[in-house]
Amino acid sequence: MSDCLFCKIIENKIPAQRVYEDDSSIVIKDINPQAPIHYLAIPKKHYSSVHHVPPAEMELLSKLFHAINQVVRSESLESTGGYRLIINSGENAGQAVGHIHVHILAGRKMDWPPG
Ligand code: 5GP
Ligand code: ZN
Repeated sequence: MSDCLFCKIIENKIPAQRVYEDDSSIVIKDINPQAPIHYLAIPKKHYSSVHHVPPAEMELLSKLFHAINQVVRSESLESTGGYRLIINSGENAGQAVGHIHVHILAGRKMDWPPG
């Protein structure tokens, strides 16, 4: 999508610090981190939200979680006290970028319920 920030990052038209990349996903550092570790796992194919992914394309989400798993394991996030995965969808959830992304947060104690 030509006007999508994350599509531009995927296409290297806007720089980002990549921590992982494979054929279907990237994981980048969030530009405005909310924890000592704050990454965004992003599928390369553009869908605005999980509920827009058609059943025939669900492998995209499986591959996205494979990418997350690779980063969690390589950085041993579980042994640093745990980590949180978040997908904001829609206005009430605070979604600012309309391209599926999973926040990976770690490195501090987090509250529940979220604000
Ligand atoms: P959302 O609110 O849509 O769930 O999350 C969007 C995230 O994208 C925010 O955490 C925000 O800091 C991050 N973000 C916005 N613009 C950029 C950018 O240009 N580069 C990177 N790396 N992250 C960004
Ligand atoms: Zn996009």
